[in-house]
Amino acid sequence: MSLTSANLNLTDPTRGYAHFVLYVEARIGVAGAAWNATVIIERQSPYAREWQGRLIRCEPNPLHATFVDNREIPELFHPCVDEDEESPVAISGSGCVCRQTFYDPEFGLPVVAKHYRPVGGRTDLWTYTTYAPLGLRPGDVIASLVIDRISGLFWSRTTEGTLSLLPERNGHGYQVGYAGAGPVELAEYLHKLIASDGRDTAIEGLPHGQDVDPRILAWVRSPDANRTQELTMEQLKAIQRG
Ligand SMILES: [Zn+2]
Repeated sequence: MSLTSANLNLTDPTRGYAHFVLYVEARIGVAGAAWNATVIIERQSPYAREWQGRLIRCEPNPLHATFVDNREIPELFHPCVDEDEESPVAISGSGCVCRQTFYDPEFGLPVVAKHYRPVGGRTDLWTYTTYAPLGLRPGDVIASLVIDRISGLFWSRTTEGTLSLLPERNGHGYQVGYAGAGPVELAEYLHKLIASDGRDTAIEGLPHGQDVDPRILAWVRSPDANRTQELTMEQLKAIQRG
């Protein structure tokens, strides 16, 4: 399936999603994202906490249901043990395996948080599942790239200071620090981003026949890239200059 810029302008910033393309296999009862990458946040980092801090709790909707097995869909509606000791997902009145549903008010993306607290436990583990955007909103300009090795994620920050998961295409995940496919995906995205001064945020890939800049790719594959850092557009341009 090919994508163009027109396909990727899917978000209406005043209302949330104008469209969301689902991949459905009715025969085996599977529905999920066709294009957006699924992102799982298991390890907390300052960036993950910044993003979690703006999430707004909401009723489960059909997009939340795409993150769980079909049989688990009813659990999206069950309250946390903190809200109801008798909840079907409470364990012995103190443990909990609930799921809570949120949306990101900046980009409209659905989020499911999975709670784990052992019986009598004092610590809570939360795992967040969401979709990466396919591109930022019309008019958004990326001012910096965040390589977040604590959470294992890649983020961007706009000139307005808004943090977003780096736009990512389903099946084309990013990585740094070695000579595999993930670093090539990231280098291609950065190549296009740098060339447009942060304005071309969509995940289309490079124009047909254009190779990724070898200096960007060499850096993304190097140990220098393999640590937590927030790089401005000027710093990214300096990497490209070598
Ligand atoms: Zn809970």
